[in-house]
Amino acid sequence: MLRIDGLSAWYGEAQALRDVSLHVDKGEIVTLVGRNGAGKTTLLRSLMGLHHGTSGTVRFMDEDISALNPHKRARRGLGYVPDDRGIFATLSVEENLTLPPGMGPDPWSLERVYETFPRLKERRRFPGTKLSGGEQQMLALARVLRTGARLLLCDEPTEGLSPLIVQQIGEILREVKAAGVTVLLIEQNVHFAATVADRHHLLAEGRIVESMDNDEVRAREDELLQYLGI
Ligand code: ATP
Repeated sequence: MLRIDGLSAWYGEAQALRDVSLHVDKGEIVTLVGRNGAGKTTLLRSLMGLHHGTSGTVRFMDEDISALNPHKRARRGLGYVPDDRGIFATLSVEENLTLPPGMGPDPWSLERVYETFPRLKERRRFPGTKLSGGEQQMLALARVLRTGARLLLCDEPTEGLSPLIVQQIGEILREVKAAGVTVLLIEQNVHFAATVADRHHLLAEGRIVESMDNDEVRAREDELLQYLGI
C-alpha cells in the first residue's frame, strides 16, 4: 500500500532522514521506534507532504505521490495524526467531528465513529479543553477517520497516557485495523508496540538501522527500553 524508496529530508543544511526505504502492506500496523531526534516525526510529515526539502520516492496504492501537496495526499487516503493531536480545543467533540470535509476515499459516518469510540459519544457536547489526554487522542484518531483516510500516520498516540488508557488506544487501533485501515505508528512503548503492531523499524540518526518482528521486540524489550532511555 505504501512504499518508500530512498527518502531523505533536510532542515536547511542539516540532514534529518538518510535514504529511508520501507513498505507497509494493506491492513498492517507498522511502528517506528527511535530516540528523540532520530527522525520519526520528520518521516511522517514527509509522507504527508508537510515537510519541504525531501528527495526520494513515495508510492501510495501504486501511485507516485512524491510531488503531491498534503491536500492531494489526503484525497488519496493518507491521514496524519500529529503528536499535539490537532484538535480544536474550544469546539465540542461533535463539532470537531463535523468540521473535517470527507475528502478521502473512505469517510466514516458519525454513527460509525460513535460505535468505535463510545466514550466520544458520551462526551459529544464537551469542549476539547475538558477532555482527558486519552479522550483527546481518541478524538484526534476519529477526526482523521472521518476524513476518509485509508492509511493513518500516527505520531505517538500513547505518549503521556496512563496504562489503562494505553490499553484502550490499543483496542481502538486493533478495531481500526480490523476495519481495513492501515497504520504507520511512532511508538516508544515497545511493550505496547509488540501487542498491537505487525512489524517494527528502529530509526537512528535518520536511518533505519534494524527491522524487527514482535517476537524479536519482546525478546529484546529491556535492551530496547534502555537504548531509548525509557
Ligand atoms: P522527537 O520524538 O524528539 O520528536 P523524532 O525522532 O521525531 O524525535 P524529528 O523531530 O523528526 O525526530 O527530528 C529529526 C532531526 O531533525 C533532529 O535532529 C531535530 O533536531 C531536527 N529538527 C526537527 N525539527 C526541526 C526544525 N524545525 N528545524 C531544524 N531542525 C529540526
